[in-house]
Amino acid sequence: MVSVTDVMAAHGHEQVVFVADAASGLRAVIAVHSTALGPSLGGIRFWRYETEADAVADALRLSEAMTLKASAAGLDQGGGKAVVLVDDPDVPRSVELLHALGRTIDELGGRYLAAEDVGATTRDMDVIDDVTPWVTGVSSDRGGSGDPSPVTALGVLAAMRATLVELDGTRDLAGRVVAVQGTGHVGSVLTAFLVDAGASVILADVNEARAREVAAAHGAAVVGAHEILEQECDVLAPCALGRAVNDRNLATLQCRAICGAANNQLVGDVVDELLAERGILYAPDFVANAGGIINIAEEFTGYSRAIALERVQQIEATTKRVFEVARERGLPPGRAAIALARERIEREGAGRRWQPGTPTAWTGGAPLRELRPGSPRPRDRALGSQ
Ligand code: NAD
Repeated sequence: MVSVTDVMAAHGHEQVVFVADAASGLRAVIAVHSTALGPSLGGIRFWRYETEADAVADALRLSEAMTLKASAAGLDQGGGKAVVLVDDPDVPRSVELLHALGRTIDELGGRYLAAEDVGATTRDMDVIDDVTPWVTGVSSDRGGSGDPSPVTALGVLAAMRATLVELDGTRDLAGRVVAVQGTGHVGSVLTAFLVDAGASVILADVNEARAREVAAAHGAAVVGAHEILEQECDVLAPCALGRAVNDRNLATLQCRAICGAANNQLVGDVVDELLAERGILYAPDFVANAGGIINIAEEFTGYSRAIALERVQQIEATTKRVFEVARERGLPPGRAAIALARERIEREGAGRRWQPGTPTAWTGGAPLRELRPGSPRPRDRALGSQ
């Protein structure tokens, strides 16, 4: 078995916390990858893992990905992740289990800020919020930001405009053909935005009724879920689950670019390079889909949807910068985005670690400074005032 501390040392994880609570049956792992830019932010995943080692590996991998996502998005936030081992993610969690998890998050004193991820619900976040202020994604009557999906879709649209500029020198979507894979929370809103902007949309969902409903509402065309990747189009927008493109189906793609919301769209690093070799422009997923995390980070300054939407527009400039750097350094875009994210951490956060308790509590490295998105939420139990 791979040693956890070996992985931590190789990938720079600051801390891994194991949690067990016999009374509620809680078994969880919280990984704090980096707090160099600010408190680590990342979702809680409720999942049925085959083994505890799988859960730990997931927490380590996903927390590192969150560090890169937050850094690339320009947030003063690091990357973390909590995974909770459950028998069935669809069965609602007990209040006792969520409180036990919340108490551990509380003990971390802001080094880990919880958010929603696969299997989590707003109700889960609300129950955790009973015992700790270090949680986002709570319902709007508790000062939360609500469903992030429309903001994520807006961010994907911004990334898509940058993608079109790189392809053809214009950000105009009118007359473009976009194939959307998955018409769930993000894909359906993205379809509406695209049609409004004058694009022709082809869409597909394994839930065919949902695909037809979204298509009828917005005047889009529907194809079968097995056909969507092969549509001739300007942009393919993966908005279903991850792992859309691999080294086998890559040859069948007929798009000029890929830009969508799904996490982990490419299977393996090599696909990034193979796409570049085929002349298909890839807008890195963690740059294009950062709208959700940008939205959530806003919760800590007293949530304003208007400000969140404004900040999400920055994704267009970030995506442009990624393509520029990719060209300058001869890298595929995915690798260029990772390099940019790491360089920002090195530049702004080298040697720093977030200390529990207050919003300006870094130690080491650069001088302390006021945390922007992570400043205390204006609530009764304001962060750092306990
Ligand atoms: P969702 O569950 O609401 O929608 C996903 C849709 O994809 C569903 O309708 C599902 O039936 C469909 N689907 C699954 N497999 C498919 C396949 N092989 N072909 C076609 N359709 C398929 O999820 P969502 O919230 O819309 O998120 C979409 C993706 O974006 C996910 O990968 C998610 O992790 C990522 N993401 C979402 C957000 C957000 O704000 N919701 C933020 C960042 C990243």
